Amino acid sequence: MSSAEIKALHSAKPAAETVRKIRKIARILEGEHGPKTWSKRHDPLSQLIMTILSQNTTDTNSQRAFQSLKEQFPDWLQVRQAQVQDVAKAIRCGGLAHIKAHRIKELLAQICREHADCDLSFLRDWPTERIKVFLARFVGVGEKTIACVLLFALNRPVMPVDTHVLRVSRRLGLMPPQTSAGKAHQLLQAAVPKDLVYPFHLNLIQHGRMTCKARNPACDRCSLSRECRIYPVFPKHNR
Ligand code: SF4
Repeated sequence: MSSAEIKALHSAKPAAETVRKIRKIARILEGEHGPKTWSKRHDPLSQLIMTILSQNTTDTNSQRAFQSLKEQFPDWLQVRQAQVQDVAKAIRCGGLAHIKAHRIKELLAQICREHADCDLSFLRDWPTERIKVFLARFVGVGEKTIACVLLFALNRPVMPVDTHVLRVSRRLGLMPPQTSAGKAHQLLQAAVPKDLVYPFHLNLIQHGRMTCKARNPACDRCSLSRECRIYPVFPKHNR
């Protein structure tokens, strides 16, 4: 990546070349992994809790934890009223159960205090920036969690940056190699065209899981090798 490109990425307006590259990568990934059309997975509050459960664990474990929590406490008011150790027990398979149980209980207490129906559906009518400020008040709710609620529950074009998105984006040269997750969020948010945020996010994750793995990326069969900053010089010992 040239210094001009890096400078452009750090400015408010991304370089046209970067946007073109993102569009090209998005096309290749869609050809490989299929189109992705937004559909609602969860209401905003459920998505918020689901995303808290996904912190520092695998998707499989967090989905199991969410499932187990819903089975034991079919509505969020029941979680709010439950003992923290019972909530922790229900989500144990997701890891960091006591920390997450405390966070979930705290945010439910706050939401239920402010909104009698213990629900966040009203966020649908709010502008994106106001939602960001609202969600950022809760302990344990950071940029990625907020982006997941905005993208998956509210269909707003906000790019969550998880470990796969960060790794693959760096390797592809969409940002400098040492870019932090927070900075990557800003850079991708500015550079990814709004209509591509949802499919690009999902397909980058799929590519990261299936091909561009943290260790032993399958560069020899990678559909993005021509776009990759490090191919074919990826150090053998890291493959
Ligand atoms: S060529 Fe290798 S490092 Fe580059 S994107 Fe593909 S799998 Fe990842």
